[in-house]
Amino acid sequence: MQLRVTSLPGDGIGPEVIQQARRVLEQVAGGFGHTLELDEKEIGGAALTKFGHPLPDGTIQACLASQAVLLGAVGGPAFDHHPREIRPEAGLLRLRQALGAYANLRPAVFYPVLRESSPLREDVVRGTDILIVRELLGGLYFGQPRSIEGANGSREAVNTMRYGEAEIDRIARIGFALARKRRKKLVSVDKSNVLECSRLWREVVTRVGSEFPDVLLSHMYVDSAAMALVLKPTEFDVVLTENMFGDILSDQAGGVVGSLGLLASASIGGPVGLYEPVHGSAPDIAGRGIANPLGAILSVALMLRHTFQLPREAECVETAVMSALGGGLRTRDLARAGERTVTTEEIGWQIAEFVRQAAKTGGPSDRVSVSV
Ligand code: NAD
Repeated sequence: MQLRVTSLPGDGIGPEVIQQARRVLEQVAGGFGHTLELDEKEIGGAALTKFGHPLPDGTIQACLASQAVLLGAVGGPAFDHHPREIRPEAGLLRLRQALGAYANLRPAVFYPVLRESSPLREDVVRGTDILIVRELLGGLYFGQPRSIEGANGSREAVNTMRYGEAEIDRIARIGFALARKRRKKLVSVDKSNVLECSRLWREVVTRVGSEFPDVLLSHMYVDSAAMALVLKPTEFDVVLTENMFGDILSDQAGGVVGSLGLLASASIGGPVGLYEPVHGSAPDIAGRGIANPLGAILSVALMLRHTFQLPREAECVETAVMSALGGGLRTRDLARAGERTVTTEEIGWQIAEFVRQAAKTGGPSDRVSVSV
């Protein structure tokens, strides 16, 4: 199969984690007999520095000509003073729009091998396996009008939360379809006791839900959902929610299971899927070779599953990650005090090596293992 991918390393630790994710993807392609066409372009601060724009035309065109985009992270202190439209983050928001990627999938899974990484007691968090389905192109992040106006001392800021029925309908369908392939439970999160957008959200989600009678639908207010995520994380399966609530709850879910560096995401719904780790550019550790590349590598697994419909290859990458962790490999963010740590490059190499060996035997198996 032909795999056409554009890689956008971006800023900070983005290039470091994407280098390892690419290495794993190359190994998957080579090992399972696929042809990989990998193009690399700039986005964010890297693009601003080179082209004066956070999302140059050449980057959009390359992304639209591919089947999937693998992105590192954007942003950094050097750009924090820039006006909103020419900040690195504006490039990412525009890319999501250009790709029509309206459904952001963010899995948060508890791995027993990393039990010490979760701040929660193991009996509370063991078994957590949540898929957050976040609407990505609507709500407060895109609603117009938006402004800061007035004289200093009496300025007023405005953002607009806006949702249309069609936007809610299409994300709800994605959520229910995914729940159908999992444990068949979907919690829709809103704030319908206060917000009109949420009242419409609840009505449309309920209507779509009637077409999926095999999926158990429930509704929660976002404040209760935030509390329940910490108190009873194992009770959640699919969480369906709007843009800002999803942004916040998915980071919280990441905290529940342990490390931000482990979290992967897929943004789908348009013609080209966008895959990126959930973390940012981590300027505090950039350039030191200590970033955790697992979120980026697990984003490759999501790409193989959702864009290329290659579940065996996706499972191979996920098993490779588990094998690396099971073998005791830890980047600094995952290690306990006194525990030996490995570099970004070392863990990436080991995972790629696992994939190479597993591919020879036709897929992941218990006989292939990675050790420290
Ligand atoms: P961040 O995710 O970059 O970092 C938060 C903390 O987690 C830092 O201490 C960092 O060292 C650590 N961390 C993050 N990823 C890690 C990894 N892979 N391995 C080890 N440790 C890791 O969030 P922030 O500090 O709030 O933001 C930094 C910059 O990133 C800002 O410019 C922000 O706008 C940008 N950002 C970009 C994205 C994106 O590109 N999707 C997302 C969030 C933040």
